[in-house]
Amino acid sequence: MTTVTKEAGAPDPADAGVFLSVRDLHVSFRTEDGIVRAVDGLSFDLERGRTLGIVGESGSGKSVTNLTILGLHNPMFTTVEGEIVLDGQELTTARESELEKLRGNKVAMIFQDPLTALSPYYTVGRQIAEPYMKHMRASKRTAWERAVEMLGRVGIPHPRQRAKDYPHQFSGGMRQRAMIAMALVCDPDLLIADEPTTALDVTVQAQILDLLGDLQSEFGSAIIFITHDLGVIADMADDIMVMYAGSAIERGATDQVLRAPQHPYTWGLLNSMPRLDSDPRAPLSPIPGTPPSLLAPPPGCRFHPRCAFQDRVAGSGRCVGERPLLGPDRSSACHLTAQQKRAIFIDEFKPRLR
Ligand code: SF4
Repeated sequence: MTTVTKEAGAPDPADAGVFLSVRDLHVSFRTEDGIVRAVDGLSFDLERGRTLGIVGESGSGKSVTNLTILGLHNPMFTTVEGEIVLDGQELTTARESELEKLRGNKVAMIFQDPLTALSPYYTVGRQIAEPYMKHMRASKRTAWERAVEMLGRVGIPHPRQRAKDYPHQFSGGMRQRAMIAMALVCDPDLLIADEPTTALDVTVQAQILDLLGDLQSEFGSAIIFITHDLGVIADMADDIMVMYAGSAIERGATDQVLRAPQHPYTWGLLNSMPRLDSDPRAPLSPIPGTPPSLLAPPPGCRFHPRCAFQDRVAGSGRCVGERPLLGPDRSSACHLTAQQKRAIFIDEFKPRLR
């Protein structure tokens, strides 16, 4: 595995507390219809102990990004370019055996559907104990005790008995907890949670989110939380990155992005969320149009076919001819000026969000 050294004069990610650094990541797939550009120039950093919420519609590239960080893409059909540096190690050029060592040990993933991650043929306890035996070189007995301990920590009652159960003997919420126990058993430094609560009812969802927050305080892991639900992000994340058509179009601290979003797509996402205090008979306001095809993404701003604000940008046809880029700090990839963004949000969107 390559160790990345600091260039002369460049800030050292370790000094800045950066644990994961993704730079100009491009991920594309060869298909019968052509090349799908699933991730198209994505850059972000994540520090230890912080939670980054990645939001976006299906096909925005959020899950592909995280599967690529884990090295779970098929190299036969996938091209990965750019840099993914985890704790000083470059992952895009790492061998499968090196990534294998990393998965479960330094990085772990919680999937949306525990039934795809848990095998029906083995007891829950065994499935939690195995990565511990493998990565920590623990004995069978020690790993079993650790599995029981982890089941207790994620709130499974009678963990010693329940560890002997098979996944089908657990409820949906308990399976999700078991998968969290499996992901955290080796104290990973980075936890990737991909829509971990989508399939659960709201009460269990709230319990799982609380649990993840508590476990993060206890283990100090960095978390990437992928979701399409801005409400969940508001509770969980320190920072938000909004993705659209394979790249980040807005990012910043959660309260800033939710209080004063700067990108027309983020305004649309917020505006389309159902609100508890709104008239239940009132129709929802979805973003018009559909996400673009990643086989032939639109030129210029990827959002321009759905954007109602392009004629307010100075310079005729700029949104179609020039792709806006995200700056290094709090920013949005949009040609509108900062004053225009502020004024449009305050005058045209904020009243509807109250
Ligand atoms: Fe809309 Fe233009 Fe901004 Fe893209 S760059 S979001 S098309 S105003």
